[in-house]
Amino acid sequence: MPQYNRIVLKLSGEAMAGKQGVGIDLDVINKIANQVKKIHDLGVETGIVVGGGNFWRGRDAQTIDRATSDYMGMLGTIMNALALQDALEKLDVNTRCQTAIEMKAVAEPYIRRRAIRHLEKGRVVIFSAGVGNPFFSTDTAAALRAAEIDADVILLAKKGVDGIYDSDPKFNKDAKKYDSLSYQEILNKNLKIMDATATSLCMDNKIPLIVFGIDKEDSMYDVVCGKFLGTVVS
Ligand code: UDP
Repeated sequence: MPQYNRIVLKLSGEAMAGKQGVGIDLDVINKIANQVKKIHDLGVETGIVVGGGNFWRGRDAQTIDRATSDYMGMLGTIMNALALQDALEKLDVNTRCQTAIEMKAVAEPYIRRRAIRHLEKGRVVIFSAGVGNPFFSTDTAAALRAAEIDADVILLAKKGVDGIYDSDPKFNKDAKKYDSLSYQEILNKNLKIMDATATSLCMDNKIPLIVFGIDKEDSMYDVVCGKFLGTVVS
C-alpha cells in the first residue's frame, strides 16, 4: 500500500546521466521511467522536479555572467524533462511537462492550479526550469512546488549514495549514515544534501523529505510503500 497520496520526486541531472555524469543516458532514463510507472500505477499523484546539472551548472562557469549561466542551467532541465516525458509516455503513462520559463511550443507554462488538476486526473506532472529565476536551484524548486501543490513528501533521489551521511561516503569509508534528521540539524551541521534555501523552505512549510538511492531497482517503489530506506528528514 502506498503511504502517500501526492509526492514530489526530485531527480538530479546526475541521476539521469550515464557513467560520465554528463548528458542523458537513455537506459538510465528508461529505468527511472519504469520506477515512476510503478508508483503511478499505485495511484500516487506524482510531480517530478528535474535537475539539470548533467548539462550545465550556473555556478561553475567562470567567465559567463552568473544570471546568464543560470538560465543556461535552467534550459538543461527542460531537455531532461522532455526525455523523461518521452520515456514515460512510451510506457503509457500520461504526462504533462510544465516549465517555469515560458516555452509554449515545448511545454505548458507552470500554472499551479493546472498542475494540481493534472495530478488529480492521474497525469504525472514534470516541472522543469526550476523556479524560473537565476540564483536558485532545482532543489529549491522541489521544495517550492511541493509546498504549492500540497505534496505529502519530497523524495530526493540520489545517485551513488543511499541517504544522508555525516561525511562523504565516497571518500570516507567510515562515514555514518543517518536514519533520521531534522532540517535544523542539516543547517547546523552544514550537511550538503540540499542548499540552505531549499532546506529552509522545507522546514518552514513542514514538508518531510526522504533521501534515498536510486541505483537499487525498485527503491522508489519501496520508499513510497513505506519500506524504510535512506534518511528521513522532518
Ligand atoms: N537553475 C537556476 N534556477 C533554478 C533552478 C536551476 O538558475 O530555479 C540553474 C542553476 O544554474 C543550476 C542549474 O540550473 O546550477 C541546474 O540545476 P541544479 O544544479 O539544481 O540541478 P541538479 O544539481 O539537480 O542536477
